[in-house]
Amino acid sequence: MERMPGLDVATTSVDKLLTWGFNNSLWIFPMATSCCGIEFMAAAASRVDLDRMGTIVRGTPRQCDVMVVAGTITVKMAPRVKKLWDQMPEPKWCIAMGSCAISGDFYRDIYSVVPGIDTFLPVDVYVPGCPPNPEELMHGLLRLQEKVRAVRAGEWREREVRPPTPEHLRKPSIPRMGDPSRPPELSELQTLSAGSLSRGADLNLVQVRESKLGKELAARLAGPEDEPEKEAG
Ligand code: SF4
Repeated sequence: MERMPGLDVATTSVDKLLTWGFNNSLWIFPMATSCCGIEFMAAAASRVDLDRMGTIVRGTPRQCDVMVVAGTITVKMAPRVKKLWDQMPEPKWCIAMGSCAISGDFYRDIYSVVPGIDTFLPVDVYVPGCPPNPEELMHGLLRLQEKVRAVRAGEWREREVRPPTPEHLRKPSIPRMGDPSRPPELSELQTLSAGSLSRGADLNLVQVRESKLGKELAARLAGPEDEPEKEAG
């Protein structure tokens, strides 16, 4: 409460109180679809206990301020996610948790997977990892709290940028069907490996890897850059 002669001005204090209340009651709508969802559950459980930040998890979008998308989102699922997002009241915030939500990760090139939820949702905070651990999610929430505080104070905050995808994730480690770089023996080796699962002790994966074909293929997939350097002289 600010006091002036003949006038009490309470706007600033009330605003601070509202900001404090807002920041410490970010109710989460969990859009958990796959393995990252398990880490989300761990974050809400007793050890990390997100509830101590006031971030209660609710099962309906109409009561929530923050949507946490944790896991892979398919093209078929995306309109439903958007509809749930639209049902959340303003102001609302979005956290992309894990590489799949951020970029599609390993599945980015699959026709049915959305290559990052920021293609259809306004993401405020990115929490990278595969999966991010509960503490990283908590750190993401702290960043969101800081953003909420700044926005309510009328300060400008740059949008978080999508974290870069590591080079080794930009293409699958094993070339897919139709990829010209796919060695022709690969299908044979994969068939052998799959068969080994049902043949038990007759042929196991170690034997497949140790076979002449397996060794040749491993060397070929490793590429020249992984070959040991020859000693000089
Ligand atoms: S980022 Fe990793 S842990 Fe998370 S949903 Fe994708 S594959 Fe699973």
